[in-house]
Amino acid sequence: MSRRPNGRAIKKHRSYTVDEAARALKASKGTVRRWVKNGLPALTDQRPALIMGSELIAFLDGRKKKSQPCQLHQAFCFSCHAPRDPAFADVEVRPLTTTGGMMRALCGRCATVMHKRLSLARMPELRALVTVSIVQGDERIGESRSPCPNDHLETMR
Ligand SMILES: [Zn+2]
Repeated sequence: MSRRPNGRAIKKHRSYTVDEAARALKASKGTVRRWVKNGLPALTDQRPALIMGSELIAFLDGRKKKSQPCQLHQAFCFSCHAPRDPAFADVEVRPLTTTGGMMRALCGRCATVMHKRLSLARMPELRALVTVSIVQGDERIGESRSPCPNDHLETMR
């Protein structure tokens, strides 16, 4: 099953049943039904319900875009599926190059570790919003590879 359904598999001028859409996107039928519940337009007054290819593409595109508008001090939480403020207004930044770094914070809602790339030029702005600790070196390398380290959950609760 594909984690990120891709609208490119969908033909604009076709209509799809939930079953067909799920198969085209390699998603589960439950996933497609959930999209319909969450605002994907579908002709539900007929059986089987039909989803227009163009609506499906627009919906998937919108989701992709919606997943990005983090404010500077926010990062995308993969547990909440939303941009979140850092817990305790506290973030760590590890410079990776002279211009860019990786910001790390705990989701203010669920304490999942969040990461995002950050331009170091924006550090002054970031410092105005949250407390920033600079982390140097490799001591924390590896964490960014793990999708959901939850060693912090204990202390957060
Ligand atoms: Zn979260």
